[in-house]
Amino acid sequence: MIKISIVIPALNEEKLLPECLASLGNQDYGGEYEIIVADNGSTDDTAGIARKFGAKVVSCPERKGVFYARQAGADAACGEIIAQADADTVYPRDWLQRIADQFASHPEAVAVSGRFIYGNSPWWAKFEYLLRHSVNRLTAALFARPLVVSGATFAFYRRAFLLVNGYRGLSYSADQYGICARLSKAGKVLYDENLFVLTSARSVQKPFFLIIRDVLAHLNHWGMYFCKCRISALQEFTTKTPSRRIATRLLPVPMLVISLVAYGYFIPTSPVFGKVYYEGTSREKVVALTFDDGPNEPYTSQILDILASHNIKATFFVVGKNVELYPETARRIIAEGHVVGNHSYSHNANHALTEYGAKDLERAQETIDNTVGIRPHLYRPPHGKKSPWELEAVKKGGLIEVTWSVSANDQHVLAFLGEPSPETLSREIVSRTNPGGIILLHDGYGTLHDTVKADKSLTVKALPLIIEQLQTRGYRFVTVPELLNVPAYNEVLA
Ligand SMILES: [Zn+2]
Repeated sequence: MIKISIVIPALNEEKLLPECLASLGNQDYGGEYEIIVADNGSTDDTAGIARKFGAKVVSCPERKGVFYARQAGADAACGEIIAQADADTVYPRDWLQRIADQFASHPEAVAVSGRFIYGNSPWWAKFEYLLRHSVNRLTAALFARPLVVSGATFAFYRRAFLLVNGYRGLSYSADQYGICARLSKAGKVLYDENLFVLTSARSVQKPFFLIIRDVLAHLNHWGMYFCKCRISALQEFTTKTPSRRIATRLLPVPMLVISLVAYGYFIPTSPVFGKVYYEGTSREKVVALTFDDGPNEPYTSQILDILASHNIKATFFVVGKNVELYPETARRIIAEGHVVGNHSYSHNANHALTEYGAKDLERAQETIDNTVGIRPHLYRPPHGKKSPWELEAVKKGGLIEVTWSVSANDQHVLAFLGEPSPETLSREIVSRTNPGGIILLHDGYGTLHDTVKADKSLTVKALPLIIEQLQTRGYRFVTVPELLNVPAYNEVLA
């Protein structure tokens, strides 16, 4: 097992440090690890507390600054892996083990990054999570590195860190942007979206307009930094400053494009790449229940029983592979008057990014046709991700793209937040539902079966609650084609 050094920069952290160190002392990691607190000139008991928790204290009061302290801590580290941590953050018990597992299963990686959630979330935090997550996922898929890592949860090989000269000389966002950009030159920087830590919101607890101002200043700063790097090469040829000024001014353009592309790709309701149906236009209290990733037994049958007992018709976006596995269930869905939509053949996560997506869609059409004798008119992309060529393929195949307007954590994606109960799941769904809404639920999990993830008993238990609560509020249930006033199936050409 690899030795890990955790480095925490600290300046007067006596208040928050104990909880942080307690969580780090309680890791279930099977290997050896050390905790280094880089004391950046504290006048309180930071060093004393660190020692009490068994941490090694490196004193570095010469120059104030987080990056300086991080570097001093890293210089004293002797682990093969260095993990960046923060004093105001609490770490889940499996944090180190998860990091080690990621390195073990990705030999090409030099670093692993994760995500944070605020312990006392400000109201706009969800936007920040979403923006960071979308941009990082996109850049991780396209450039083998997230754009901005979280300073509180990031780990790298010490040899790669030494190779790129550490944080030294980084002038901008050294522990979030700079070090990630540098390390990416030495190898792949992984983005593990389930590597969560709980951080305090103290750095962002200020009026909202100040946050916006800071964000803009950050973007501007980043732009200048980015440009400086790119332009220095150009300056060899042209020493005139106007080119630099123009390029700096133009920087918001690629930034906007990246944001727009991320919005188009990740957000189920975004129309950036073409027409997407995510709700009906009716002001009447009608709503459509949709179930993705089935058939998956015994859950699909249990859901069909519940729907039958309430005399409700729903829409099932089935996965081709699962239809092959449970053809009888697929036939039962149709026989009981529900609608079947296409949710791809293999449920591959990166469908929208590759040409393969179009073939997979067509293969699902064939499978469904061969099994139940219909060709769906509705297509729902895996994970709701879209791209221009994927939407083109949908159109060419005579289908329409349907996503959703209401969803909750019934896939247990945010594992760190814990699994919701049927009551909380139904409450979340019901509170987000408006007339014309399309509700996303799952009777399966990708192409998995008989695993913990594929266990959809939570959805099965929540379903009657959702139905009854929406009926109490005066809602009526229809299928997606009824809601959108479109055909359910394409005609099969003889
Ligand atoms: Zn799905």
